[in-house]
Amino acid sequence: MLSLISAPYGFGAVELTEPSYDYLGQELSYFFEPEGPPLSLSEAMAARHSGQFQSHHSRVLHLGSAPKPHWVYLPLHNADDKALRRTLEIGPAWIDQMNVYLLHGQQVLQAFYAGDAKPRQQRPVPNQGYLFVLDVPPGNSGLYVRFENIGSHPLVVRLLEETQQRTVAKWISFIDGAQLGYLLALIAFNLMLYSGLRDPNTLNYSVFLFIYVLLYLLSSSYINEWFWPDSNHFGILMLLVAVAWSSLHFARHFLDIPALYPRLNSLLKWGANAFMALSVLLSLSGFYVAGMRLTFIALIIYPVVMVVLGGLCLSRGLLAARYFLAASAFGLLGTATTNLALWNVLPFNTLTFNAMKIGVLLEATLLALALAYQMRQHQVARLQAEHMARTDPLTGLFNRRAFFDVSDSLWSTAMRNHRPLSVILLDIDHFKQINDQHGHATGDLVLIALSKLLQQTARHGDICVRWGGEEFLLLLPETHDVQAAHLAERLREQVERLKPAGLSITVSLGVAERGNHYSLDSLINDADQRLYSAKDAGRNQVCHQACVTCSDELGQAL
Ligand code: GH3
Ligand code: MG
Ligand code: MG
Repeated sequence: MLSLISAPYGFGAVELTEPSYDYLGQELSYFFEPEGPPLSLSEAMAARHSGQFQSHHSRVLHLGSAPKPHWVYLPLHNADDKALRRTLEIGPAWIDQMNVYLLHGQQVLQAFYAGDAKPRQQRPVPNQGYLFVLDVPPGNSGLYVRFENIGSHPLVVRLLEETQQRTVAKWISFIDGAQLGYLLALIAFNLMLYSGLRDPNTLNYSVFLFIYVLLYLLSSSYINEWFWPDSNHFGILMLLVAVAWSSLHFARHFLDIPALYPRLNSLLKWGANAFMALSVLLSLSGFYVAGMRLTFIALIIYPVVMVVLGGLCLSRGLLAARYFLAASAFGLLGTATTNLALWNVLPFNTLTFNAMKIGVLLEATLLALALAYQMRQHQVARLQAEHMARTDPLTGLFNRRAFFDVSDSLWSTAMRNHRPLSVILLDIDHFKQINDQHGHATGDLVLIALSKLLQQTARHGDICVRWGGEEFLLLLPETHDVQAAHLAERLREQVERLKPAGLSITVSLGVAERGNHYSLDSLINDADQRLYSAKDAGRNQVCHQACVTCSDELGQAL
């Protein structure tokens, strides 16, 4: 009469005396209800006995993205001489409605009404699905389950013995805790970075991860009773839309798409907005399945778009795109692997089942690295810009702007503590002729060689500045006029011997000490006047306060 149940030793039946963690898809048979009112259990039994149930050959039973109401049958056998207690685990956690019947012969031993569509029905256990404790008598029994669900449900069914169930629950708590803890830490850290650095990418990244965490918590049934006690459909759909939208938003800005590809940016921006608005509108106006299909299309497209964007920006030389590309590739790989395993294209095992979660963790980590790398690049670029704004590009010496940045504090310290401070102004003699006779490039070589000499001769703490075209300034803290004049004379002699680019050059120098000067400007002005006194006195000489041969009334050549 009942072919499987009446078979002597349950051919194809699950043997309960040999507990295993295996998914039981291969032992299941299924049957789509015809249109019309729901079938009763006895009608479903009749349909099975008349051979209308179809057998199935993979570990996950996946009947499409929005399957019609259907029945599933699982034959059981208990070779023991007493009843055995087993936990029937049916996932995923978002099944709307299911009726579970344990039959022994024609007799219904246990019946359960579960699903998240109706408030008073048995609810799913977070991340494990629905659990039913069965007491299966010796011999052949059978399980009939009727499913009704909007949306896809790759059915994973297991029969676990008590200690196995405890082990599974322990590992799920541990893995979920670790995964969520890691993601929450990343979110918190990036929000802290945002509060300090105001980099909008860190905020976009945190928002994207936060929505993902909410989606994960909701779809695995951790928090759906807080938000949607009757059903979590709408919430899951909205969060799916939001995850796709926020990740694309992050990607566009992180990869600088508005600047690099303005047209593509507008297309992506308005495309994502339109997709989101349409999904929300459809599901709000009663076309939930259409809204869901649209969202799934978006979810298939967006990881591919991310990889393409990463590749495009890498080809434009954006180095942070390397991390981004790797991150998106892992995300895509994980999602594809899990989905292909659920659709039985890839073997279904713990690794392929969890590939999506692993992919998300790798993606989140690599994106955090991408952000860190990008921040570092911005910092280096800022430092370079600052350095360039303060440095003379030809000689590498400070320019005037940098000089005034550092000289103020040196001047104030010297004034406050009544310490000596001197200035030397140096100008190349007849430099115009060098340019005219040997070319501007040779003139540049002379300037570079002279700068090197100045840097080598200056002491630690002295400031060397390219003051103008072929004019240089040395600011010498803790240096009296006489010491400065000696240094200037030494420089003059060294320049005479320098022979840059094979040419003989000389310089004239003016030296001034802080003394009674009330400002640095006035001190420099003094040095400038002495420099011109040195030029007037015939060039190739130093003029300072105490010298005797200088014709100028301020000072005389050394
Ligand atoms: P003096 O002895 O009176 O100082 O005569 P000079 O020819 O050195 O003075 P002048 O001010 O007449 O000429 C300075 C020249 O320096 C003119 C300008 O073309 C040149 N110069 C300024 N900056 C640079 C530079 O970066 N590279 C080169 N090669 N020449 C420069
Ligand atoms: Mg000159
Ligand atoms: Mg000059």
